[in-house]
Amino acid sequence: MGFDTDVLVVGAGFGGLATALRLAERGHRVTLCEALRYPGGCASTFSRRGHRFEAGATLFSGFGPGQLFDRWIRRYGIDVELDWLDPVVALRAGNVTLAVPPDRGDFVERICALPGAPAARVRAFFAEQRRVANTLWALFDDPRLLPPFGARGLWAHLRRTPRYVPLLAWVGRPLTAVLHKHGLADWSPLRVWLDGLCQITVQCSAAEAEAPFALATMDYYFRGTAHVRHGIGALATGLTDALTRLGAEVRFSSRVKGLQPIPGGWRAETRGGPITARRVALNLIPQAARRLLGWPEGANRGLDRRAAAVADGWGAAMLYLAAEPPPGAPDKPQHLQCVLDPSRPLQEGNHIFCSISGAADRGRAPGKQRTLTVSTHVPMATLRALPEAEQGAYIERIQHAMRATLAARAPEWSAGVRYAETASPRTFERFTGRDGGLVGGIPRRVGLRHYLDLVPRAVAPGLHLVGDSVFPGQSTLATAVGGWKLAERLHRALGAPARAPLLEVKV
Ligand SMILES: Cc1cc2nc3c(=O)[nH]c(=O)nc-3n(C[C@H](O)[C@H](O)[C@H](O)COP(=O)(O)OP(=O)(O)OC[C@H]3O[C@@H](n4cnc5c(N)ncnc54)[C@H](O)[C@@H]3O)c2cc1C
Repeated sequence: MGFDTDVLVVGAGFGGLATALRLAERGHRVTLCEALRYPGGCASTFSRRGHRFEAGATLFSGFGPGQLFDRWIRRYGIDVELDWLDPVVALRAGNVTLAVPPDRGDFVERICALPGAPAARVRAFFAEQRRVANTLWALFDDPRLLPPFGARGLWAHLRRTPRYVPLLAWVGRPLTAVLHKHGLADWSPLRVWLDGLCQITVQCSAAEAEAPFALATMDYYFRGTAHVRHGIGALATGLTDALTRLGAEVRFSSRVKGLQPIPGGWRAETRGGPITARRVALNLIPQAARRLLGWPEGANRGLDRRAAAVADGWGAAMLYLAAEPPPGAPDKPQHLQCVLDPSRPLQEGNHIFCSISGAADRGRAPGKQRTLTVSTHVPMATLRALPEAEQGAYIERIQHAMRATLAARAPEWSAGVRYAETASPRTFERFTGRDGGLVGGIPRRVGLRHYLDLVPRAVAPGLHLVGDSVFPGQSTLATAVGGWKLAERLHRALGAPARAPLLEVKV
């Protein structure tokens, strides 16, 4: 049977974009359908009444020389301007304030210089963390090292075996076990820093976090991390343009409404009519995939298991603000991680991530105003447990708490606010098609089940998930690496493409 396309990718989040781009590089026929008029999903940039805001994600890794985004930007001449920051992030948590430089060695010295720091133990802890991070980040820098392996990947792993041994000691244990080993579990500045960092990376506290994942993501700010001027939407659009140049078909405002198996492939119902494809990559959370397929709970165990893990996670409440810069404000973009009360859970407005655009980022807001994207974690189990009529008031209380945290920890910016919009999990549901507004992927709470997911499995023959609910998980880089990996797998399954790759494919 003739198919309209080799691979249909549903959704232009970073997972879908990367899958489509890598397949197009390989010479396959690709169709990418995105429900919205623009790409990027949770990592997009939107316009509202003369302002341009980041929808969710604001700070990105993977731009270092040779890393995935750097490679694509260079290969396709993508016109994005990066702001390299120092500090990358500043933690403001009452009695703990810490500016994080882009160099991990400098960071460790800065922590050691804090009053009362047990410097020798801190250095030993970070030396151990560094070994784990170096081992695991190699997998991001070279996705061939992620399963399923080709012969070259397997060989590379065999040679790396000695590096995995120290890592095994921490499998199935929380990050706090590593702190205990180094006698640091009760040293509050490090605990506050780690709790905050773990919440935004592995999506749980240091006491809950599966140690190897947490130790690796502790390097997030030191791995080619930058702010994208004009918004991350610029990179998403650049990747879409590259796709089009490679001959892929990109359809915006094209929601896929249903999906059915047909002999040898799948048939999708879209706004523009049906599309048949040999393979499908769904850049959706498992709940949304089930809905698209018309599968009730119980129809597919793999999807149910993933859906339950995602449901045990988070939504986001947002403030989108425009503010006059305070006197002496840095010209560069700023990322402030603010905690009102470090003794309370880092969620529901008690902990906010506030990203402020730079002076050179003209056109984001009227005059010299800067835009602020402020986010906090909403525990979805708490939200769901409330009667529907009370959910709005709960989110409003959270947004009120976000304002209070901003006023207490970043008063210089809070005082200058001239414009405000808000968003809730319901807004994310409406704009990104994530059921209930579930964002953040699967929290990496202690457990061996995370390692079962290292090997990607098809949901059904020829049907795959991509995005932050599959390995390696949450963040633009992680979803893009997952997409790259899926594309390689599909490439092997599809066999030789109908046409030669349009560009030289460097592996
Ligand atoms: C508040 C917040 C802050 C964050 N901060 C950061 C950060 O600073 N740095 C970082 O790296 N990461 C951050 N993240 C995480 C990062 O944004 C996500 O992990 C990543 O963007 C998710 O990408 P994804 O590929 O899973 O797809 P999504 O972003 O979910 O995209 C899915 C796409 O599919 C489309 N779609 C849905 N249904 C359909 C359909 N039926 N038909 C067609 N299209 C459809 C949607 O419109 C959407 O565009 C943050 C996330 C949030 C929510």
